Amino acid sequence: MTLFPRWTLAILSALSLTVSALADPMEMRASRWVQIGARDKHERSAIANEGVSIEAIRTDSVWGFATETQLAQLRKKGFRVLGNFDFNLGRGGHQGGFDFPAKDAKYHNYSETVSALKMLASSHADIVKLTSIGKTIEGRDIWAIHINTSPEALANNSSSKPGIFYVGNHHAREHLSVEVPLMFAQHLLKNRDDPAISQLLNTRDIWIVPMLNPDGAEFDVSTGSYKYWRKNRRDNGDGTFGVDLNRNYGYGWGTGGSSKDTSSDVYMGPTPFSEPETIAIKSFIESQPNIKILLSFHTFSELILYPWGGKYDPISNKQDLMVYEKMAKTMAGWNKYKPQQASDLYIASGDTTDWAYGERGIFAFTFELSPANQGGPGGFYPGAGMIDKAFQDNLKPCLYLLDLTDDPHRAVSGSSFGFLKNYIAPRLEPEHFWN
Ligand SMILES: [Zn+2]
Repeated sequence: MTLFPRWTLAILSALSLTVSALADPMEMRASRWVQIGARDKHERSAIANEGVSIEAIRTDSVWGFATETQLAQLRKKGFRVLGNFDFNLGRGGHQGGFDFPAKDAKYHNYSETVSALKMLASSHADIVKLTSIGKTIEGRDIWAIHINTSPEALANNSSSKPGIFYVGNHHAREHLSVEVPLMFAQHLLKNRDDPAISQLLNTRDIWIVPMLNPDGAEFDVSTGSYKYWRKNRRDNGDGTFGVDLNRNYGYGWGTGGSSKDTSSDVYMGPTPFSEPETIAIKSFIESQPNIKILLSFHTFSELILYPWGGKYDPISNKQDLMVYEKMAKTMAGWNKYKPQQASDLYIASGDTTDWAYGERGIFAFTFELSPANQGGPGGFYPGAGMIDKAFQDNLKPCLYLLDLTDDPHRAVSGSSFGFLKNYIAPRLEPEHFWN
């Protein structure tokens, strides 16, 4: 009897090849799709603290992106790596000239997003203005669409009406998070004569940035196949690229669930607000003191998240906590997402919503859009068919937030708009959206 048949030896020699390949420092720092055993938020936070970007949660494990260096650290701490896949993620330079794979052509790349916004602005010039709120690290404009029925407010980029801010695409590969806010802008404007919509447009100041991270989004599709890119495109000067924009905000920055390792998918950056994209948001919000509500779109998992993300404590202001819980629960009734405090997943510090609420008192939510779950990282690329579903699921939540913008506390005082109970969205022909 042979203890080690030939095929075992073949596998062993393949394994030793893998190990020697992994000794290469850049290989050790390359992003891999992994499954790691974890049963609760404390174990998940310990994993996030190693710099792993957790993307899907199961009762007994998490899936996410990690480097071999991070996995080695986790193994030392007793964590079990259950799956480890090389997708050749995010390597190689910018090759340019390519776009979304043909089957996903309905998704908007940067120039298509800008064109769609310009078309809206030109066909509704009386109540819409496009404004660049800053430039990315590669010099692309970060476009905001400003909707306000007051010409003075548009001219001055400033309004006394209660304001709301919707933003998508902090994370490059989360392309669906561009589509939903873009379609929401289109919906509001194409239905501006609908009595309920018109009432909201007349009394609210609306800002929408569908694509905050165009450098990353363009890079993600730059070879014609997806690169699973998450961060911006900061050259970190050591052969790695990118800062995680949703770990770079200045409230509780660097206090857990983010990494100092430049190759990590959750690299926090050298300092809070080190990136032009997060600085743009900070300056913009600070210039608009009327903004009361913020909604940041991400993918995926079908979740409604609210502060805190950087600590386990609930919001200490009991009234605000009640408002958050009521709003989240109400919206979950429409989109069927799971509402929860962000840190119930795992600790993640330096995100948009902790800063917006902690520093500015803005009621701030993160939506993790569809799909709910996925065995592999394909959840970031759910196909063109998901666009309309994600928009329809979230139209009422978006309108609800818009309604409550004058006073989010109305969510619990019972005087919130009744119109949504019976609101039937005027349905547009899908091709209207793809121009
Ligand atoms: Zn995200």
